[in-house]
Amino acid sequence: MEKKTCPVYKKCGGCQLLHLSYQEQLAKKQKEMSKLLSGFGKVEKIIGMENPYYYRNKIHSAFSVDRKGKVVNGIYEENSHKVVPVSACLLENQVGSTIVSTIGELIKSFKMKVYNEDSGYGLIRHVMVRTGYHSGEVMVVIITASPIFPSKRNFVDALLKKHPEITTVIHNVNERHTSMVLGKTNHVLYGKGYITDTLCGMKFRISPNSFYQVNPLQTEVLYGKVMEFAKFSGKEIVLDAYAGTGTIGMIASQYVERVISVELNSEAVRDAIANAKENQIRNISFYKQDAGVFMTMLAEKGEKVDVVITDPPRSGCSREFLDSLFRLAPKKVVYVSCGPDTLARDLAIFKKNGYKVKIIQPVDMFCHTNHVENIVLLTR
Ligand code: SAH
Repeated sequence: MEKKTCPVYKKCGGCQLLHLSYQEQLAKKQKEMSKLLSGFGKVEKIIGMENPYYYRNKIHSAFSVDRKGKVVNGIYEENSHKVVPVSACLLENQVGSTIVSTIGELIKSFKMKVYNEDSGYGLIRHVMVRTGYHSGEVMVVIITASPIFPSKRNFVDALLKKHPEITTVIHNVNERHTSMVLGKTNHVLYGKGYITDTLCGMKFRISPNSFYQVNPLQTEVLYGKVMEFAKFSGKEIVLDAYAGTGTIGMIASQYVERVISVELNSEAVRDAIANAKENQIRNISFYKQDAGVFMTMLAEKGEKVDVVITDPPRSGCSREFLDSLFRLAPKKVVYVSCGPDTLARDLAIFKKNGYKVKIIQPVDMFCHTNHVENIVLLTR
């Protein structure tokens, strides 16, 4: 694999490992995971990508003005709010990058004001583009600082004329002074307001605010491994915790008796319900709840759960979640983790509570960055 370079590699800080060849990156991650996790069990060989570039299906671009008053767009410099202009990112989907550049030009020609974080003045804050890897559908979200978006019709018409591949355009309002990119309110300016993509043969709806894995090819590898490790017999009751739009639970539903799915984000749960309907899945139920609170309730009711699949954010599983999991005492747990340190912390707690680590499988979902995803199979 030919090694690519990026002119803003140092300033941006998004790709911490770009100075290494991809093979060296994988070796570094392998070594780190072995050091951190081999005390719990054997760490399998990390699964890398054949082509580790342009894999991100979701891209964000921050809009700002530089010292000379010129509109710039790109990525926030690490630990700061200064925008580093980025025109061709090596991680981002290339269709999306081109669309963002077009939007930058349109903003200039429409003489729109970009938002100034210090003064709170100006309109355009960010642009987000999400693409469906298999479907080819494209969502553009324009995030503004106020609910009024003058000449939005003409703006969208001009954008669609240049990019007929766009299937939906959404205006998102973020009035708060925050580092969160998206606000809560979405107005659909064109199309359905969401895109659909397929994963492991099932269709999934992706809304602007819903979590969806950013590396679609590796996600299929990841989910395939989860199913392989769980080795379902057809009779299991499965809990899918931190479920996002219900992807893992829905894929598992084909091989088990029943799936219970819990997720905190209401928009993701709404998507999950629509996804189950679209795929005609009837043996899954969705709950919008904090995973820890929900687990406690299941434990108190004395529910029977055979397998728990848990895929928490970087902060790991909450203590409440784990304590209730031990009361439910499932035979198998498949832990999908994007935070190796919290994974190590949680594995130690599992060990104290009678669980054995059977397999640790790292997957490179975030090539060129120092993030590593792991799947761990635990049995009681
Ligand atoms: N399993 C999904 C999503 C994993 S990301 C997938 O593979 O696509 C983690 C998810 O946990 C996010 O959707 C986030 O909204 C959710 N989450 C974060 N804190 C939570 C909590 N306390 N309880 C339940 N879900 C939570």
